[in-house]
Amino acid sequence: MIEIKDLHKSYKVGKNSLHVLKGINFSVKEGELVSIMGSSGSGKSTLLNILGMLDEADQGSYNLDGVPIKNLNEKLAAQYRNKFLGFIFQSFNLINYKTALDNVALPLYYQGLPRGERMDRAMSYLEKVGLADWATHLPNELSGGQKQRVAIARALASHPKVLLADELTGALDTKTSYEIMDLVQQINDEGKTILVVTHEEDIAQMTKRIVNLKDGVIIDDKKVEPIRASAHV
Ligand code: ADP
Ligand code: MG
Repeated sequence: MIEIKDLHKSYKVGKNSLHVLKGINFSVKEGELVSIMGSSGSGKSTLLNILGMLDEADQGSYNLDGVPIKNLNEKLAAQYRNKFLGFIFQSFNLINYKTALDNVALPLYYQGLPRGERMDRAMSYLEKVGLADWATHLPNELSGGQKQRVAIARALASHPKVLLADELTGALDTKTSYEIMDLVQQINDEGKTILVVTHEEDIAQMTKRIVNLKDGVIIDDKKVEPIRASAHV
């Protein structure tokens, strides 16, 4: 599903260049639940942004579902993002003046789905994350965990091949984090490929494979028996 080879990325900082990703090689197969773990500043978000086509590498190759991702113009990149990827962020990134339902439905508008279909699909994903009763509420009427559930419903609604989550539990307390990871595990059980970036060991242990990033290099990549989040909620 994802294949990257010898990926490098530097940022310009003043007159200097900061080498953040120093030759990353890894691949993710369909149906995997993988975490990229590392301390703050190790390059996790930089890597995820490249995988999400929000940024480009300086060197190396990236194939997504067999499609080489290189030199795409913004329009094509946006098309591929919509077709292949669902995003979940630490800060939820919901639109404050839209209801939960409209937040979930909005990306489907950009995909050109007719209104009836958008609303039906959005509602079915709100049901899936347990928020059917909250459909007409605004984000500021929801708890952090509920906001993240809306964001997960929104990410799933466009039927992405891969879910990319950057510190998705970073703004949540421990119990709520585990409830969200329980949902993530359920979605993976149904076959969705999911990549979770986290600096939290206990969150990484709820995935099936932990890729350890340190100073822009993968220092460890191992399959693990995931701890079931449901045992902790
Ligand atoms: P992580 O997500 O693991 O905390 P990041 O990928 O966000 O790490 O950042 C890795 C390094 O790159 C950090 O030193 C950070 O300060 C730097 N960095 C990230 N984004 C930029 C940017 N747009 N410009 C300059 N430096 C950046
Ligand atoms: Mg980060």
